[in-house]
Amino acid sequence: MAGRPRGPRTVPLPSAEQASALVKQMRGEMESNSNYRTKSLKIHGPICAKCGREFDASSLNQLTVHHKDGNHNNNPADGSNWENLCIHCHEDEHSRGLLGDYLSK
Ligand SMILES: [Zn+2]
Ligand SMILES: [Zn+2]
Repeated sequence: MAGRPRGPRTVPLPSAEQASALVKQMRGEMESNSNYRTKSLKIHGPICAKCGREFDASSLNQLTVHHKDGNHNNNPADGSNWENLCIHCHEDEHSRGLLGDYLSK
């Protein structure tokens, strides 16, 4: 009964494709810090996530980007921390403060 040969575990190196995707992602994160609003509008559309009001070019300045976790530096490129809210819903979201957070858990 010979033991099974135990070769070293090989960890696959990222392919050139994966590597360039990583670089792109990193660049995207740096960019998103300055223009996350534009990106969020692109990803989620010019619609308030709460009241469903739609915005056009002339009213778009009333649509703001809310950070779900409250951290304005957390800007994943996929938009998962963003929510487009009109100024009214955004104010409402924040005025609930801790109680809202507590109740939603
Ligand atoms: Zn709204
Ligand atoms: Zn907010």
